[in-house]
Amino acid sequence: MASELEPEVQALDRSLLECSAEETAGKWLQATDLTKEVYQHLAHYVPKIYCRGPNPFPQKEDTLAHQVLLGPMEWYLCGEDPELGFSKLEQTNKPSHLCGRVFKVGEPTYSCRDCAVDPTCVLCMECFLGSIHRDHRYRMTTSGGGGFCDCGDTEAWKEGPYCQKHELNTYETEEEEDPLVHLSEDVIARTYNIFAIMFRYAVEILTWEKESELPPDLEMIEKSDTYYCMLFNDEVHTYEQVIYTLQKAVNCTQKEAIGFATTVDRDGRRSVRYGEFQYCEQAKSIIVRNTSRQTKPLKVQVMHSSIVAHQNFGLKLLSWLGSIIGYSDGLRRILCQVGLQEGPDGENSSLVDRLMLSDSKLWKGARSVYHQLFMSSLLMDLKYKKLFAVRFAKNYERLQSDYVTDDHDREFSIADFSVQIFTVPSLARMLITEENLMTIIIKTFMDHLRHRDVQGRFQFERYTALQAFKFRRVQSLILDLKYVLISKPTEWSDGLRQKFLEGFDAFLELLKCMQGMDPITRQVGQHIEMEPEWEAAFTLQMKLTHVISMIQDWCALDEKVLIEAYKKCLAVLTQCHGGFTDGEQPVTLSICGHSVETIRYCVSKEKVSIHLPVSRLLAGLHVLLSKSEVAYKFPELLPLSELSPPMLIEHPLRCLVLCAQVHAGMWRRNGFSLVNQIYYYHNVKCRREMFDKDIVMLQTGVSMMDPNHFLMIMLSRFELYQIFSTPDYGKKIGSETAHKDLVQQNNTLIEEMLYLIIMLVGERFSPGVGQVNATDEIKREIIHQLSIKPMAHSELVKSLPEDENKETGMESVIEAVAHFKKPGLTGRGMYELKPECAKEFNLYFYHFSRAEQSKAEEAQRKLKRQNKEDTALPPPVLPPFCPLFASLVNILQSDVMLLIMRTVLQWTVEHSGHIWSESMLQRVLHLIGMALQEEKQHLENVMEEHVITFTFTQKISKPGEAPNNSPSVLAMLETLQNAPYLEVHKDMIRWILKTFNAIKKLRESSSTSPVAETEGTIMEESSRDKDKAERKRKAEIARLRREKIMAQMSEMQRHFIDENKELFQQTSELDSSVSAVLDNGPVVSDMTLTALGPAQTRAPEQKQCVICILCQEEQEVSAESKAMVLAAFVQRSTVLSKDRSKFIQDPENYDPLFMHPDLSCGIHTGSCGHIMHAHCWQRYFDSVQAKEQRRQQRLRLHTSYDVENGEFLCPLCECLSNTVIPLLLPPRNVFHRLNFSDQPNLTQWIRTISQQIKALQVLRKEESTPITASSKNLENMDELHLPEGFRPDFHPKNPYSESIKEMLATFGTATYKVGLKVHPNEEDPRVPIMCWGSCAYTIQSIERILSDEDKPLFGPLPCRLDDCLRSLTRFAGAHWTVVSLSVVQGHFCKLFASLVPGDNHRDLPCILDIDMFHLLVGLVLAFPSLQCQDFSGISLGTGDLHIFHLVTMAHIVQILLTSCTEKSGMDQENAAGEEEELAVLALYKMIQQYTGSALKEMPSGWHLWRNVRAGIMPFLRCSALFFHYLNGVPSPPEIQASGTSHFEHLCNYLSLPNNLICLFQENKEIMKLLIESWCHNIEIKRYLEGERDAISYPRESNKLIDLPEDYSSLINQASNFSCPKSGGDKSRAPTMCLVCGTLLCSQSYCCQTELEGEDVGACTAHTYSCGSGVGIFLRVRECQVLFLAGKTKGCFYSPPYLDDYGETDQGLRRGNPLHLCRERFKKIQKLWHQHSITEEIGHAQEANQTLVGIDWQHL
Ligand SMILES: [Zn+2]
Ligand SMILES: [Zn+2]
Ligand SMILES: [Zn+2]
Ligand SMILES: [Zn+2]
Ligand SMILES: [Zn+2]
Ligand SMILES: [Zn+2]
Ligand SMILES: [Zn+2]
Repeated sequence: MASELEPEVQALDRSLLECSAEETAGKWLQATDLTKEVYQHLAHYVPKIYCRGPNPFPQKEDTLAHQVLLGPMEWYLCGEDPELGFSKLEQTNKPSHLCGRVFKVGEPTYSCRDCAVDPTCVLCMECFLGSIHRDHRYRMTTSGGGGFCDCGDTEAWKEGPYCQKHELNTYETEEEEDPLVHLSEDVIARTYNIFAIMFRYAVEILTWEKESELPPDLEMIEKSDTYYCMLFNDEVHTYEQVIYTLQKAVNCTQKEAIGFATTVDRDGRRSVRYGEFQYCEQAKSIIVRNTSRQTKPLKVQVMHSSIVAHQNFGLKLLSWLGSIIGYSDGLRRILCQVGLQEGPDGENSSLVDRLMLSDSKLWKGARSVYHQLFMSSLLMDLKYKKLFAVRFAKNYERLQSDYVTDDHDREFSIADFSVQIFTVPSLARMLITEENLMTIIIKTFMDHLRHRDVQGRFQFERYTALQAFKFRRVQSLILDLKYVLISKPTEWSDGLRQKFLEGFDAFLELLKCMQGMDPITRQVGQHIEMEPEWEAAFTLQMKLTHVISMIQDWCALDEKVLIEAYKKCLAVLTQCHGGFTDGEQPVTLSICGHSVETIRYCVSKEKVSIHLPVSRLLAGLHVLLSKSEVAYKFPELLPLSELSPPMLIEHPLRCLVLCAQVHAGMWRRNGFSLVNQIYYYHNVKCRREMFDKDIVMLQTGVSMMDPNHFLMIMLSRFELYQIFSTPDYGKKIGSETAHKDLVQQNNTLIEEMLYLIIMLVGERFSPGVGQVNATDEIKREIIHQLSIKPMAHSELVKSLPEDENKETGMESVIEAVAHFKKPGLTGRGMYELKPECAKEFNLYFYHFSRAEQSKAEEAQRKLKRQNKEDTALPPPVLPPFCPLFASLVNILQSDVMLLIMRTVLQWTVEHSGHIWSESMLQRVLHLIGMALQEEKQHLENVMEEHVITFTFTQKISKPGEAPNNSPSVLAMLETLQNAPYLEVHKDMIRWILKTFNAIKKLRESSSTSPVAETEGTIMEESSRDKDKAERKRKAEIARLRREKIMAQMSEMQRHFIDENKELFQQTSELDSSVSAVLDNGPVVSDMTLTALGPAQTRAPEQKQCVICILCQEEQEVSAESKAMVLAAFVQRSTVLSKDRSKFIQDPENYDPLFMHPDLSCGIHTGSCGHIMHAHCWQRYFDSVQAKEQRRQQRLRLHTSYDVENGEFLCPLCECLSNTVIPLLLPPRNVFHRLNFSDQPNLTQWIRTISQQIKALQVLRKEESTPITASSKNLENMDELHLPEGFRPDFHPKNPYSESIKEMLATFGTATYKVGLKVHPNEEDPRVPIMCWGSCAYTIQSIERILSDEDKPLFGPLPCRLDDCLRSLTRFAGAHWTVVSLSVVQGHFCKLFASLVPGDNHRDLPCILDIDMFHLLVGLVLAFPSLQCQDFSGISLGTGDLHIFHLVTMAHIVQILLTSCTEKSGMDQENAAGEEEELAVLALYKMIQQYTGSALKEMPSGWHLWRNVRAGIMPFLRCSALFFHYLNGVPSPPEIQASGTSHFEHLCNYLSLPNNLICLFQENKEIMKLLIESWCHNIEIKRYLEGERDAISYPRESNKLIDLPEDYSSLINQASNFSCPKSGGDKSRAPTMCLVCGTLLCSQSYCCQTELEGEDVGACTAHTYSCGSGVGIFLRVRECQVLFLAGKTKGCFYSPPYLDDYGETDQGLRRGNPLHLCRERFKKIQKLWHQHSITEEIGHAQEANQTLVGIDWQHL
């Protein structure tokens, strides 16, 4: 850097570096006016060090600043060399017990669910691992940055507040000691001086608002006139807008603009131009103009460079202070004192106050620096934390108001410190008592919500965008209120009581503004024009829910407070609804001789509101009165006499009626907003303080009323009064068919009303209402959730209400009510309800939604049927009410209730028209059941002397009174028992009658009260019917089962392809392709099978017929017929790669002829195995192409496949494909020629081939030389004397049909195009090489999979694989027929020359650098091109055999050269002397000799032989697969079974001697020559001398990286990872490549690079080098696996980490500890090994179209 600077600058720097810190400090020590002295120093030097050019040089600035500016301060402070001084200070330092580690963005944090006082108490990873909580139920999250570790804070943890590191030493006492006692007076004085000056300087300069003028005491004499155009961050403009604007305004490149934008976003400001004022001003105006169109413009200032310089130093100074106080708690204390000391301007003038109050004016970087300083000083000192808290509370209103209007996110605001302060219980309590904090928070909140209607209620309608923005921000105040209340007081002082109640008053004011807000009126006639705003009100309610609950919790803790609060709440409610009868005409209702007065009010006609927080709070307090027994202890203190039950119930009742009417369809014209409100009213997030409390309020009111009166009022509010008060209503209305809709509507209302009665009597599980505790309540919730269906942990958690600590209380009871079922390889762990809990099931559980209710009913009935029980679902036995609510049960036996029951039963008995419904009846039966249960309970639990007042059985035995004169309820039930139309309810009726009789018996036995006369025939009657009913029931069951099976079957057919893809593929293949038969045919006797060579077993020809999936026609596979093809997908692959740094750089000039043994650039071919006619496929593909073109023109949509690149989906299974492979018979048989019995041996053969090659080369040369030299040709011809029977002029006829030839070319070109990423070119000589390569690579990859999974080589391979390999191999074998003969011959010559050196090929790779299997495949498949011109009688088989032997020997030499000599722990099994061992030792000696003894000594022949055997196995296995598919020779049965390595069987099958070394011995002479030529290669020498590496054998399989067991260590690793491009910034989306382990900075501008002319994100870029375009990543923050393929394809995949409940946590939302699931990780690895990632993405994108729209390339 320095060299680029101008010389004078360098000189200046040098002179600066010569400044002596010690001297300056000395001068300061003498100074009379230290402040002036220091300021002059700063005024002089700061602008010389900072901001001397357009770009900052942080390192240089830091060095200079330390030398010239900070050094003197340190000297001054210590009074000696700071190195000595600080270490002295450190010795007396008492280390803090607080950890206080400030979290970086993305760092993992831990909270203990058992011990944390609230969820904001967190530990850093280090503390967590050293704490007791690691064995507790903990929760893990990633920090958003900002907070700090609470380790050591005794108030944050109920238990184990210290980790091992921060633990108190035993001799230490916790009591507070003044840290200053350890410091000398001098140090204290000097520290005080220098801190005071520097802190003030920093505050002054950072809060300085003038742009071109410095504070007077910093003004310089000579002032240069340079300016910065400073751009500030805001949260309004996007990155793209800023980048675009900058390019225009300051004329920079996109890259620079991105750099500017990134810094602005990170630091909050960045200068974008440096120079004269005008020059900067010009840029400013362009930026402002460009960004002011829709929004407020970006903030830009033109600032004098010296101001910027001082500000930069100010920041440096604050960090310096932060680090200095780390040396000593004494210094820290002094800094706190300096900071909080009141300034000259009195109140709010301390430095800390000044910083806080200008927070919203500071840029992001400055804020974060001083926030950090506060955290490491004020918040770490217990005494000053308290003082600071007071300052914070005093400024609270200002700070929050600033925050609300500021546009920075909360974590960048000082307002966010509330979480650090308010969550400390002692501070919160102190602030409430002394600073009246609760009231302040609520009042501040109210001040910001000024929009009210005429009644003073909040009004959110027609909210402007600005107001909405403000509303969002002001919500954080509710969070503050929550923090303050989260820890409940254990002791109450009078002061606390008083201030809490004051706060309660304020809170009631807030609720009062909500009571009745957003009222609605039913819309009749027309649909509403505009959906009214409702979300804001519900947001408010939702945010307040926990606060309301917590306030009740507080009240519950102190009787005095509870009583006062109750009074206050009642008073406010009376204010809200007092005199609600005013102006209303009262009406009198009377039924059954009861009458009551009420008001005339119709929900369907007048205004009604869902928001009733004051009523609901009162309901909550009322329950507390009951629960805490205050109601019984101090009745005289309570205003119980002031309670007006009709007033209490009025509004909750209206709200519930509204719900009923909405359900009955009466409010359809009011649109979706109402539906949504009703939904949230019942939703688990709101119901606790909405719906639940309305039920409680009704229970409260009704318990104080005559139930008959209540029921009449209820009938009236439900607008059903007429129906039940009019005798014979049923008959009247039943005859009028015109009112069908109205009747339907009324039916629903009656059902809803009955449901409400069931709830009022049946819901007793809130402690205080019923005699239960909190555990009973949660148990009941869980039982009912699990009655619907088994659920995963997270699902269950979601269905239960969370408290303010995010706990549901579920863990403590779940074991008691449910069994846990572990997950399999997919899916989640599930909880299932214990069977014994089923009896507690209540069909009318009030938290069921309608859908849940019917699902639960079905599930429970099914269960009963399975258990062969009757299907009645009677009401469960309930716990008794608390005394305050006890009278509620009387509703059941009230006259009006009985009338209602009778009426409904009467309608049912009459069974006429539409005036009754099954639901109605079911509810009445349920109510009767409840009443019977109640009476039974009473009888069973009653004390001897008590009179039982509950006499339901008596009442239902009596007939109705005049004027109806209906039969008794009992009589009607008996009648209904036999009604044919009530089959479903018969069991329930039977249950009722049975229970009735049981009660009768009970009554008789206790004989306390007379039992009414009952018909004794009931039982007999029912038993008579029993048989009949039973038979009928069974028939019904059978019918249901039949129906179900039918339904299941059709369902299965529909989802067959989706669900059972694999099965489907396999079966259909078995149907459509008979190819498999070929191997299993009985033709082959038990003789040894040989796959190649002259002795090759002749597999008898079989006719093979296949069916086209498109036209369903059958077709025989033969050389002459129409081509049949398999859908196939060709892709590049690095799955087997041993060197990921290698990839094809220059495809146009890349020579693929020799595959390197690192297998770095492979081509894989896969297929789903579905067969089509070539012409059918072509037609299909053309239509796909045409459709896609039309679609792309219309809407620019992507698809999961890229048609332009030849991609399509298999028409049957939708598997991604990009070409087709033709189906062929074994190609060798097609060229089979007569062969003579006398075949050459290897030596002779090599000689012949060499001669033929030579002849060809001469001929080739001639063709290329000009004709003039023709005379010479003849001479040459003579010279080379053409080998016998070789006819180079012969060109064989292609045996294949035109259509097959076309397909051979098609697949060949596709492989070439994809493999090299070049434009298709049929003529390119590399096409056949690519085909052979793909064949070899695919075989190798399948061999690896089989071997990794310990599967037999020829075991039952999935059909699709089997078909794919067969077609691919045969295709590769036939491909030469469509290529120019000379091209293939050329390849053969070159390949051959790599083993048998000729004259013409010099620069061929050394045998260390050749993958022998690729070489084998190339040689074998190219050989026919030479052999077809050879009429000497050498057969193709002979050639194959010799080629195979030759390559095998080369491979053995390769293995011996590279085998490692480790012998550790490997004991020799047998003594030396085996034939193989001696032979291999001899061979090794020979190689040693040819390599000039550079080869290491080998311990023994045994070791060598072991290495050879192990090293050559993969090659032999691949070769066996290759020849098996090429020649169609069945595989020997031994290799079809798994188990031992089958070395001998393989050798036999491959025509090899079991002692492989024999090959060398049989061909001694020629092999000697060859080995010598191989060993003389210079590369071998270099390798043996350690100058280069080579692959050794066997190659190990590649695996995905090792993942840690505990997910948090990954998070931690990622949080330490910073973006490699933007200098130490934390990466926002750290993403790990699971193939190589590289961490990447994904989804971010900083790490975008250009790839093939497009900007791509780090992941996409990485896939190109690491995975040839395919990538498997783990997004660490999201705990999500990401698959990428190419630029446009990607999908998310479920991560291999599960929590203890067997669930994944994508997005890390739940935070349960996550552990590696090895099976799932293996599954991902398997997808990778099988090359199925792209296919998986295709399926995912087809299933979920939104995945297609994601911009994958930018990840
Ligand atoms: Zn910590
Ligand atoms: Zn700790
Ligand atoms: Zn714990
Ligand atoms: Zn067809
Ligand atoms: Zn398919
Ligand atoms: Zn980056
Ligand atoms: Zn990688």
